[in-house]
Amino acid sequence: MTVHADYSLKKLNTFGFDVRAKFFAAPETIETLRELLSGNRYARLPQLILGGGSNMLFCADFDGLVIQPRITGIEKTAETADDVYLRVGAGVVWDDFVAYAVQHHWGGVENLSFIPGQVGASPVQNIGAYGAEAKDSIRQVECLLCATGERKVFTAEECAFGYRDSIFKQAWRGRAIVTHVVFRLAKQPVLRTHYGTIEEELKKFPEVTLQTLREAIIAIRRKKLPDPQELGSAGSFFKNPVVPKKLADELIAKDPQMAVYPVNGDYVKLPAARLIEQAGWKGKRAGAVGVHAQQALVIVHYGGGTGREALALSSLIGQSVYEKFGVQLEPEVNII
Ligand SMILES: Cc1cc2nc3c(=O)[nH]c(=O)nc-3n(C[C@H](O)[C@H](O)[C@H](O)COP(=O)(O)OP(=O)(O)OC[C@H]3O[C@@H](n4cnc5c(N)ncnc54)[C@H](O)[C@@H]3O)c2cc1C
Repeated sequence: MTVHADYSLKKLNTFGFDVRAKFFAAPETIETLRELLSGNRYARLPQLILGGGSNMLFCADFDGLVIQPRITGIEKTAETADDVYLRVGAGVVWDDFVAYAVQHHWGGVENLSFIPGQVGASPVQNIGAYGAEAKDSIRQVECLLCATGERKVFTAEECAFGYRDSIFKQAWRGRAIVTHVVFRLAKQPVLRTHYGTIEEELKKFPEVTLQTLREAIIAIRRKKLPDPQELGSAGSFFKNPVVPKKLADELIAKDPQMAVYPVNGDYVKLPAARLIEQAGWKGKRAGAVGVHAQQALVIVHYGGGTGREALALSSLIGQSVYEKFGVQLEPEVNII
């Protein structure tokens, strides 16, 4: 397998920042990935696992080995009266997998249509949108351990999924490379349409099916989110903050339009986009970066800028939201 030296990552991060990796490899099989991990040439270098680069903020060149697993394939491994189990390669484009599931009338991931990136990152990030999360469908995550090249399978329970979080971002961060993900999808799907403006969008279609639900979600996303081919971004820059209910009640008293989502009795999730908008950042530009005019949660790159500029802007936003509302914002993107 070729290991490239001094490799440009400009097309491999959706922000489009012009950064380079000291070394870059894109193994297409478990064997070549294991070979790469077991050789001692790169063993002492820092390693970074890269999917589609759609949740990465590179603030500098990466002085080590970037590994982008490109293991493909979708295979049905089991079937019951109600469900099918699909084993999907980490390098499969996430939305190709969603399209495949919808074409076969298997439900579970349709609300996650059009999220950029690869299947391998879906358990790491526990991607979510429109009332669904990857964890709802993931049954197993197959990995190779970076240190030894050994295979390790994590059950869904062992993945410790949380809001945009998993064990792969915590205890196993950077130590396990996802090679395959096993999903369980429903043969008689229950469509989840009560979220955001989905029902409104679905009125444009003659019937509500998995396919039209997918199309409605894609249409909404195209309107709201920048297309990385045209305007660099990593989607939502910040997570929606979870705060004590008492603080949320105080904020709602000042801004009755603020929608909150219950997390448990004492805590609620606040919409970070609303806080950022209320702090006056929506549509603001700072040199080569700025806050998207349609979606305040998204920091965009107009071209020719650096990750450090985006990071500096995010700090200013975080600071002003904290000063105005007493709420601490936490980045969703992975800052490198
Ligand atoms: C326009 C836009 C809209 C978006 N909308 C959403 C949304 O609605 N919901 C949502 O949840 N996210 C959204 N995102 C964020 C992003 O699409 C997801 O986080 C996605 O899962 C990232 O996938 P990726 O392959 O690009 O991973 P990368 O960004 O390359 O990596 C993300 C993390 O996963 C790790 N990783 C990647 N592949 C592997 C692997 N095989 N093994 C181990 N670790 C790995 C990386 O090291 C890194 O920590 C959006 C992004 C953009 C640009």
